[in-house]
Amino acid sequence: MSDNQLRIVWIYPDLLSTYGDQGNVLVVERRARQRGLDVARLDVRSDQAIPTSGDIYLIGGGEDRPQRLAAERLRRDGGLHRAVENGAIVFSVCAGYQILGHEFINDLGQREPGLGLLDVVSVRGEGDRCVGDVLGDIDPRLGLPPLTGFENHQGVTHLGPTARPLAQVRLGNGNGTGDGTEGAYNDTVFGTYMHGPVLARNPLIADLLLKLALDVNALPPTDDRWYEALRNERIAAAQQPA
Ligand code: GLN
Repeated sequence: MSDNQLRIVWIYPDLLSTYGDQGNVLVVERRARQRGLDVARLDVRSDQAIPTSGDIYLIGGGEDRPQRLAAERLRRDGGLHRAVENGAIVFSVCAGYQILGHEFINDLGQREPGLGLLDVVSVRGEGDRCVGDVLGDIDPRLGLPPLTGFENHQGVTHLGPTARPLAQVRLGNGNGTGDGTEGAYNDTVFGTYMHGPVLARNPLIADLLLKLALDVNALPPTDDRWYEALRNERIAAAQQPA
């Protein structure tokens, strides 16, 4: 963090903001301000350069064609790589998650190179599209309560040796590999299939991103009654028989 200002970068709202993932930006921004931080939010359209001096980068989900366009532009731009080399935190959802991996299948049915920031490869699932509420247990190393979210994807994501699963699902599909894993992360780069938007449903993940960006172990507490009510409602909904 430079100049005591936290820089939150929202990547390509014009291409990757189909499923309400803007909520993730709002939640990180709000929780940073609640802790008295000076926050600058930068919304970077796909015809603009990715700034390399951001602290937290957020990438949402999207449909197949915008996803390919976003991957092409991010590869050409190169800024996100440089930001990660500088220690930036990245949190990505669904199409954004697939783009951060080594490759995914694009709207033309071809293998599209990703950014290689996460050690994952996505293929097109042969079964039904994965749609519905998800409930999972987040990797205990991260010390977070259960994950709640909503998934909507055809892709199936396989993790390589340097990516850890973000969670194990109790309900839903997650990565779709049949092993119950959901999402992936390494030191500073996170990917999940959860929409919802996921940080509104799991605000302590937003706090984790803030702690990593600020390099602190704890943040001042916040009044999370509203979030708790939302979490409980969605967890109950996920557990309803279909
Ligand atoms: N097009 C990708 C898939 O279906 C991502 C979808 C999404 O972002 N929701 O797997």
